[in-house]
Amino acid sequence: MGARLIDGKALAQQVRDRLAVESAAVLAKTGVKPGLATILVGDDPASHQYVKSKQKASEAAGIYIDDHKLSASTTQAELLALIEKMNADSKIHGILVQLPLPKHIDSRVVLEAVSPDKDADGFHPYNFGRLVEGNPVFEACTPKGVIKMLESTGVGIEGKRAVVLGRSNIVGKPLALMLLQRNATVTICHSKTKDLPAVCREADLLLVAIGKAKFVTADMVKEGAVVIDVGTNRWTDGKLCGDVDFEPVSQKAGWISPVPGGVGPMTIAMLLANTVESAKRMAGML
Ligand code: NAP
Repeated sequence: MGARLIDGKALAQQVRDRLAVESAAVLAKTGVKPGLATILVGDDPASHQYVKSKQKASEAAGIYIDDHKLSASTTQAELLALIEKMNADSKIHGILVQLPLPKHIDSRVVLEAVSPDKDADGFHPYNFGRLVEGNPVFEACTPKGVIKMLESTGVGIEGKRAVVLGRSNIVGKPLALMLLQRNATVTICHSKTKDLPAVCREADLLLVAIGKAKFVTADMVKEGAVVIDVGTNRWTDGKLCGDVDFEPVSQKAGWISPVPGGVGPMTIAMLLANTVESAKRMAGML
């Protein structure tokens, strides 16, 4: 492997250690810990596992967890009533509604019901709009984590050619805006992009979030580029893998993030960071 590894697991640990100190400072000043409400509807095993990981990491960082597990038959009105209660609860500084929600519930309505002041996931249109303006408050966790990973390399973002593969509202679009805010020259690619390999080869920074196992091959990567892989897929052998064909691409890239152990742990760390930041903001500590 020629590329240097961007170790998301180790970076996330550093973030959690810093947050534990900041949480203690919030507690000392206000008498309450930063608080995160986790809301999970239904029985999806993967969602249960995600929420459990987020709760464990939160507690290690000194964050109070208010856990709400609701049955799959919960109505939209019941869920909205719970969110309203969390919006008004002074012990809660961040609200996480785990997606996907059951089909009878409109996710958009639910995410817009979360107070923009407690929007730890950064999915509320108000916070998305603030990002578009270049004046963000809560930033979406996955792209925020990708930016921290880029910064950790010391390669720099300003003036670089950044190519983002994928234009979803939770990863690709906010990531492109965060890169633009840091003065990268940004291209966003999607399923209708013509000659995608040629566009990718122009990238100093190649950020991949399309959900297609091992899609990005070495011939699509510029020598020495920084490659960050957001994808979470299962390969034919059942093992977890990213959107980047790791082994061959790591012979060509300058830096590369693995899957697992890359963006995933950083996404969780950024959820905690948003919650602690929110508590500090509410306590007048920012
Ligand atoms: P998504 O909503 O499904 O969006 C996928 C994007 O990729 C779309 O914009 C789509 O283009 C584009 N795309 C699909 N096939 C393509 C192709 N062949 N060429 C170029 N573009 C293509 O996905 P997402 O929610 O952003 O997630 C992307 C991946 O990241 C998934 O594997 C997901 O599991 C993973 N993820 C990981 C984390 C984490 O914490 N590690 C967090 C979030 C997501 P169109 O818009 O034209 O359809």
